[in-house]
This record gives sequence, structure tokens and C-alpha cells, in this order.
Amino acid sequence: MHSAGRRYRVGSPQLGGTRQVAARSPLGSPLEKARLGATLSRLAAAPVPKLLARPETTAARALAERGLPNRVVDGFLRPLLTALLSDPALGTSSRVADLVLRGYARGRLALPAAGTGAVPAQLAATLPAGTVQLNTRVTSVGADGVQTEEHGWLGARAVVMATDARSAVELLPGLRLPDFHPVTTFYHSCADAPLAEPLLLLDADHTVGPAPVSHALVLSQVHPSYAPAGRSLVATTVLGRRAWAGGPAAAEQLVRARLAELYQVPTRDWEFLSVRHLPDAVPAMPPPHNFHRPVRVLAGLYVCGDHRDTSSAHGAMVSGRRAALAVLRDLGIAATEPGQDRAAA
Ligand SMILES: Cc1cc2nc3c(=O)[nH]c(=O)nc-3n(C[C@H](O)[C@H](O)[C@H](O)COP(=O)(O)OP(=O)(O)OC[C@H]3O[C@@H](n4cnc5c(N)ncnc54)[C@H](O)[C@@H]3O)c2cc1C
Repeated sequence: MHSAGRRYRVGSPQLGGTRQVAARSPLGSPLEKARLGATLSRLAAAPVPKLLARPETTAARALAERGLPNRVVDGFLRPLLTALLSDPALGTSSRVADLVLRGYARGRLALPAAGTGAVPAQLAATLPAGTVQLNTRVTSVGADGVQTEEHGWLGARAVVMATDARSAVELLPGLRLPDFHPVTTFYHSCADAPLAEPLLLLDADHTVGPAPVSHALVLSQVHPSYAPAGRSLVATTVLGRRAWAGGPAAAEQLVRARLAELYQVPTRDWEFLSVRHLPDAVPAMPPPHNFHRPVRVLAGLYVCGDHRDTSSAHGAMVSGRRAALAVLRDLGIAATEPGQDRAAA
């Protein structure tokens, strides 16, 4: 955490909830820290159905109603939730916020060694060669096949549309288009890693201005494959809609200057590699949030993706499993539903 001009460590993924709150952190008196630790422990142990049955409001309101001291909320929980939800206003459903905090408290945050693309690559590797056809743009969908830009009509017994929300609405205009939280990520390369550990550095201070950093991470400390030997890769996230004259790259100097303060190292020599601004990065999940949007449009046509469950890789996969089960049922193929593990995000 970087809060009130100080940097301190709050817990470790290997530690349980009560020990998450480092004794040396300025998050309040020992009693207050114990209360925060107990809150995280309770969340970590809570069954998901119990969290989903809680009264639902916005994450911001629920945070205010928890009765925790301001310095715990503003110095830790608010910046953490902002980063986890990509939502600076914390207008996200409090149930979703509980689920992501539960994931954090259980120490389940992770990054695949070979990048997020490793997950679909592993799924595809289990299929017969030639099953997956990449770089093919679908221009229209029906229950009996899809029209593609590159290969014309491809007939099918069932069609599952697994696109992002905006593309899904373009292909099937009856679907609901959510609001989105934009995410901008700046990538820098440097010779020496500014932190020797894979720690998520949250900026609790810098919440205003043209390029307020939400969090930064030395990706190559998570796994060395993220950078060539002798170099480190730093990813820095700026949230919200920004009106940058000259595009997001114009804010790079501001981000670099803030990184010097956050990491407490000179960043003048860092190499700016790229910036990715995604206006539709994360579908918004205001209350009331529907965790089970229908995935079956009609027999033969299905839709899945993060916009059907929760806006996360986990939500996308859970909705994909629901769609797959619906296909099997409609095709008359018996399928048993795996355990109801709905630990979203
Ligand atoms: C910067 C950033 C950071 C994130 N960090 C995390 C994180 O730490 N943890 C986490 O759980 N989630 C994270 N997310 C969210 C996560 O990436 C998404 O929730 C997840 O990728 C959604 O998966 P999806 O399969 O629903 O859709 P997508 O990953 O968007 O995949 C949809 C696919 O459909 C394809 N497509 C669209 N239209 C067509 C068409 N007409 N024809 C053919 N193909 C088409 C697209 O090319 C794309 O490949 C992050 C998102 C962003 C942007």
C-alpha cells in the first residue's frame, strides 16, 4: 500500500485473513487491525451462497456501513476494491465486492506463468487438431451456423456466441448492452526490478488528476517469462474515463513520475514500451446484479462471456460451462453438472 505518503505491506497471499493485516501497517490501533483481520477471515470462510444472500447495495455504501475506521477503509479497503473491480466510484454490487474480497482473503489472486492466453491455449490443446479456427470474423449468427468474413457460411448443430458484450449485442441486437469500466495499462521496462517480490502496489493517495494510478505490478517478478533476461516489466493501471489530449500515451510522463514516488526509485531511465486503453474493459455490475443471465437464446443458439455472470475470467468460464450444459441438454446428451463452485472472480 502507498497511503498518506507512506508505503507499507498489508499481508501476504500465503497468510490467512487475520494475519493479512501486517502489524507494522498504519491501518489503525491493534484492535482496529484485529477487526479488519477478523472481517477478512470471516469473508474467506463464508460460503458463496451466504454472501449472495446478503442485502445488496453498492460497494461504496456497504463499505461505509461496515463500521470500520476511516483509515482502514480509505487506506486499504477502498483502493483494494477499486483495483479489483476496476471501478473508482465503487458503484459495483456489494455482493460482487464481497466475492472479490473473499477471493483476495483466500489468497487466490494469480497470474498464469505464460500469460492469460495460456488458459484458452490449454483448453484448445485438448481438442482434435483443426477444431479451432482463429482469425475468423463472424458477421452474423443463427441457430444453424455462422456467416464469416473469411470462410463464408459455416453450418452447425449449435452455435455458442462467446464474444465480449458489445460484439454480442452487434450480432444479436436483442441482448442487453451493459455500461463499461475503462482500463488503461502502461507498460515500462527497466534493468532493475523496483521491488524484489511479486507485490501488487496500490496507490491510495493519488485519486485525482489526469492520470491517477490505481495500482502497479512488476509482472516479471510474478514470473520471469514476462520479460527477457536482465530486464523487468512493470504494468501500471489507470482507471476511469480520461480525456487525454494526444491520447493515453500523452499521460506517460505523469505515470512515470508517480511510479518514481510509489516505488521510491528513479524512473527516468525506464523504457516506455506501450499503453493499452480499453474503453469497454470491464462490464459494469451495479446492483441489482444478475449472476446468472440466461445463456440459452433458443434451441441451437447460446451466448456466454463475462457479461452473463461476473466481469472476470472466472465469470466468463462459469458462463461457458452453463452454455455448454445447455447445448448438451438440447442435443439430448446427458450431462451432469459439476459442483456448484460459484466462487466468482
Ligand atoms: C486490462 C484488463 C485487466 C483485467 N484483469 C483481470 C484480472 O486480473 N482477473 C480477471 O479475472 N479478469 C480480468 N479482466 C477481465 C477479463 O479479461 C474478462 O472478464 C475476460 O477476458 C472475459 O472473457 P470473455 O471470454 O467473456 O471475453 P473476451 O476475453 O473479451 O473474449 C471475446 C473474444 O471474442 C472475439 N470476438 C468478438 N467479436 C467477434 C466476432 N464477430 N467474430 C469472432 N470473434 C469475435 C474477440 O476477439 C475475443 O477474442 C481484465 C480485463 C482487462 C481489459
